[in-house]
Amino acid sequence: MSSLPPSFNPHQFDIAVVGAGLIGKATALGLAQLGLSTVHIAPDLSQSSAAPAAGQWSQRIYAFSSSTQALLKKIQVWDALDLSRFQVVRDMRIFGDRQGPQDQLHFSAFEAGTAQLAWIGEANLIEQTLDQASRFQNKLERLDATVTQMTFAETEAKLTLDNQVEIRAKLVIGADGARSSIREFAGITAQHEDYQQSAVVANWNSDLPHLETANQWFLEGGDILAMLPLPGKQVSMVWSTSPENADALLKLNEAEWQLRFAELAQGAVHATLGNLRFNSVPAAFPLSKIRAARLIGPAQNPQVILVGDAAHVMHPLAGQGLNLGLRDVATLLQVLENRESFRLINDPLLLRRYERERQGDTSALLWVTDRLKKLFGAQSTFEQGLRNWGLGLVNRSHLLKRRLIHQALGENHFE
Ligand SMILES: Cc1cc2nc3c(=O)[nH]c(=O)nc-3n(C[C@H](O)[C@H](O)[C@H](O)COP(=O)(O)OP(=O)(O)OC[C@H]3O[C@@H](n4cnc5c(N)ncnc54)[C@H](O)[C@@H]3O)c2cc1C
Repeated sequence: MSSLPPSFNPHQFDIAVVGAGLIGKATALGLAQLGLSTVHIAPDLSQSSAAPAAGQWSQRIYAFSSSTQALLKKIQVWDALDLSRFQVVRDMRIFGDRQGPQDQLHFSAFEAGTAQLAWIGEANLIEQTLDQASRFQNKLERLDATVTQMTFAETEAKLTLDNQVEIRAKLVIGADGARSSIREFAGITAQHEDYQQSAVVANWNSDLPHLETANQWFLEGGDILAMLPLPGKQVSMVWSTSPENADALLKLNEAEWQLRFAELAQGAVHATLGNLRFNSVPAAFPLSKIRAARLIGPAQNPQVILVGDAAHVMHPLAGQGLNLGLRDVATLLQVLENRESFRLINDPLLLRRYERERQGDTSALLWVTDRLKKLFGAQSTFEQGLRNWGLGLVNRSHLLKRRLIHQALGENHFE
């Protein structure tokens, strides 16, 4: 980690990337690999992700799609990952909240003609590999700082950091998450909806093998429980529930958890995985939906691009937030890489090109996850009948299932 000497102030870069989540790290590395002088700024950059310890598993377990694999391959990170810590998902089973024999949906990689539906693994494993690759990238400067102010001139933005250093960049990438201050500095408004739910996450050792299957149960009252397979006989749980129930769940001991699992979905969770023993301490995250009104700003003379949660936050029921964010990164790299030789990197036309290309994918995923969350949260008998009937109906359509799988994989076209 370098800290700039006072004489270095101000400093000029092609691009400033703000935010050190997985999205920010992938963006900064990818842009530097294009030969653009890039500064990566975040308060927590120096706390590089620790290497996962053997036998221990991080709580931040995600489902990664093929579009994520494609981007990580492009920036030469995928092949450096310890893939023995990733579990391939070959089947996905989704159960309705009526427990009728037809109220379920089964996706199979075999049926869709693809090798796997997803990979399940640790976010910090990828972040650590991105950190390592970034250290060898001489076009990339990393700064441990918070952006406190940003102003815009004709052809560049000026970022003031909390250590009083001033950075000038032709283009600023806001990868600073759901509460993005870069979004605010650029005058971009965002719609925010609190889902009044929290996700309780924990890893478990299971008695029964998971059979490379991700299971998700919609439960009465709007709760959603996902059990994602990890290497060996381990599963990662994401239980979306009311904030009150989340607080109560965090206080349970292992024996009390067993009782809760035994009664869930008429015993189906227990029947599928057997007894479950703690493999990590449970934690809870509040859930909301956020959508930025624009992906670029300020309106008159855009010099900022939003990626990842700074642009969109969705319910985790489809396990797609990070995958969608990495598709933003892939599009950004593609737009800059393929620009006409006469265009500067902050040509407004390029920024609009990025925004236009990201609209469809973002709108579709935000809409689908929001509708599913609300449909399964509705309490009327009519809606309960409708959603369970819908699961069975989709299950009987092989063509529709194939289409849904290819969309979830993040493939732009369907053959
Ligand atoms: C329970 C749960 C399960 C999920 N499961 C999945 C899944 O299976 N698959 C999937 O694809 N997605 C999943 N998601 C979504 C995923 O977690 C997010 O989409 C992803 O982490 C967003 O990454 P990000 O880098 O955009 O933001 P963040 O990870 O929030 O990173 C933001 C960064 O910006 C920095 N920052 C903030 N303010 C400033 C500032 N002023 N100056 C500089 N830096 C700043 C922060 O320090 C941080 O480093 C899940 C989400 C939840 C809640």
